[in-house]
Amino acid sequence: MYDVIVIGSGPAGLTAAIYLSRNGLKTLVIAGSTWGGQLMLTSHVENFPGFSEGIAGPELMNNMRRQAERFGAEIIFEDATSVDFRNKPFKVEAGGRTYKAAAVIIATGASRRWLGLESEKRLRGRGISVCATCDAPFFKGKNVIVVGGGDTALEEALELTKFAKKVRIVHRRDRLRASRALQRKAFSNPKIEFVWDVVVSEILGKEKVEGVRLKRTNTGEEFTIKCDGVFIAIGSRPNTEIFKGQIDLDDDGYIVTRDETKTSIEGVFAAGDVQDRRYRQAVVAAASGCKAALDAQRYLEATNP
Ligand code: NAP
Repeated sequence: MYDVIVIGSGPAGLTAAIYLSRNGLKTLVIAGSTWGGQLMLTSHVENFPGFSEGIAGPELMNNMRRQAERFGAEIIFEDATSVDFRNKPFKVEAGGRTYKAAAVIIATGASRRWLGLESEKRLRGRGISVCATCDAPFFKGKNVIVVGGGDTALEEALELTKFAKKVRIVHRRDRLRASRALQRKAFSNPKIEFVWDVVVSEILGKEKVEGVRLKRTNTGEEFTIKCDGVFIAIGSRPNTEIFKGQIDLDDDGYIVTRDETKTSIEGVFAAGDVQDRRYRQAVVAAASGCKAALDAQRYLEATNP
């Protein structure tokens, strides 16, 4: 029996764990089989305060993990497979075991979205990737495309320029969604080219990626480009599958919160990207984890004075 179970181990979950365990609450973090969240896929974080020269995403997450462990948080590296919030104590299943707690903080974050093409499934890992930090070195001297127009797409493209010969960013509009700082870097990088107003209608290749078929959004005209790799960076969706039917979710699957971190079940709180469709920044997730921890602590004090 724990005071609080934190589900998820990105900046939101680990910040919550740091606050809870430092305040003396018996805390379990169900970190997931691939722990650390989206920053584990980020090579260089330049805008997390306190690191004037930037820091590698995995290093930042390792620091947060060590900090939570130092205060006594227990961490298990299993995926939460189901929850039962109908009765108290709340129950969370992970790795075939059931864990119980008086309060729960959900910080399961978001996962990258895929285009949904059949060819994408078939060629995943054979030239198709969602992680330049992990896979860019495989594309030394090759031509790759990045799909998307947000911060992630530009970061992936910039990372890829360290290895690839040419990086084409294909975007469905003629304007980027990404921040100005990243746009400036991408526009001034001689290895990056843009293909505007197109969507990917097919990824070509039998055993490995050989090219993409693109469709112009304005005229419907289709054409192909040869390439060796395709990096998909078209945003993310919240990881809330196991909470369906247990707490209120909005139409896109994000957890609905009120008063910052409270979910539709008293004693269950949510923090980070799983309930944030607006900011989706590591520092915001961390702050929201802090709020959820303080709210959970107040809830426990009020229910067990
Ligand atoms: P995003 O901002 O939602 O951008 C997704 C991009 O993919 C958009 O340009 C969108 O086009 C395009 N797109 C979506 N669905 C598509 C589809 N089916 N086919 C083709 N294109 C599609 O997602 P993100 O870039 O992953 O960023 C997520 C959040 O993390 C943002 O808040 C971002 O600021 C943050 N982030 C920050 C940093 C940083 O600060 N260093 C780094 C990475 C991410 P439209 O533009 O037409 O909608």
